[in-house]
Amino acid sequence: MKLKDKIVVALGGNALGNSPEEQLELVKHTAKPIVDLIEAGHEVILAHGNGPQVGMINLAMSTSAASSANTPEMPFPECGAMSQGYIGFHLQNAIREELLSRGMEMPVATVITQVIVDKEDPAFKKPTKPIGAFYSEEEAKKIMAEKGHTMVEDSGRGWRRVVPSPQPIDVAEKETVKALVKHGHVVITVGGGGIPVVAEGHRLIGIPAVIDKDFASAKLAEILDADYLIILTAVDKVAINYGKPDVKWLSELSLEEAFKYIEEGHFAPGSMLPKVQAAIKFAESKKGRKALITSLEKAKEGIEGLTGTVIVDR
Ligand code: ADP
Ligand code: MG
Repeated sequence: MKLKDKIVVALGGNALGNSPEEQLELVKHTAKPIVDLIEAGHEVILAHGNGPQVGMINLAMSTSAASSANTPEMPFPECGAMSQGYIGFHLQNAIREELLSRGMEMPVATVITQVIVDKEDPAFKKPTKPIGAFYSEEEAKKIMAEKGHTMVEDSGRGWRRVVPSPQPIDVAEKETVKALVKHGHVVITVGGGGIPVVAEGHRLIGIPAVIDKDFASAKLAEILDADYLIILTAVDKVAINYGKPDVKWLSELSLEEAFKYIEEGHFAPGSMLPKVQAAIKFAESKKGRKALITSLEKAKEGIEGLTGTVIVDR
């Protein structure tokens, strides 16, 4: 790895936890490997997930809760924007503090980020991401009729709204992010995969959908011409035969191997599969671009080539 790489780091659920107290505590630990990378001379741009956080906000401000509390129902894209602010607030302060404790004065900022999707994306015909509260069949049918939401029965636990998960096409605030990065700011962006929007003339319209944060991070890394995409999650490496006695942890994954293992079903949809797919997308977008999947704790060792799974087009 050359002295100064541009690195997009995507943080997973384990970097943030499930409640404000937990998040405030966890971000202190999350900040350390991030600042290690910055201290080593790299340019770091941060992306993160928001599943539990946006779920919490949505739940607190959805129909049933809202009617009793006399609060207006918050549309889903607005919930996403709130989650970016709430997570960014904690993350940027934790990183700032860690930087200052090491004698580094660098500005840190969160950008409320919208990610443009195609309104013809086939995902809109087949919503897959469950969000919000569980309802009885009767309540669900009423909501479907009144609001036009798609709701499905979720593995015996009740009925739940599902939203589409379209592919990211572009990052609306990309020039802002580029300018900040160029001037030495640490930027937190595309939180939760970005707020999904469709462009109509001069307007960007927020839509109820969830963009996979691993795909949005890969797109961001491509747009910023990053050298590295690092996906930090709960496991040190990607495995084949995961969870089986003959599990094999992988240090390197060529594109051919990655396609083959996907075909063979080694990566769980909704967890490891989108990470491997995002890593492939980034690695194949330009020669020399590398993706690394490793754990938050091992980020530093990972970038030094000591652990993690590297996906690269050889
Ligand atoms: P994040 O919040 O970081 O996106 P996820 O839970 O979505 O985390 O995905 C990471 C998880 O994927 C790991 O903790 C692991 O349990 C699971 N996983 C599924 N298949 C594999 C695999 N083949 N190799 C490694 N981990 C896997
Ligand atoms: Mg995930």
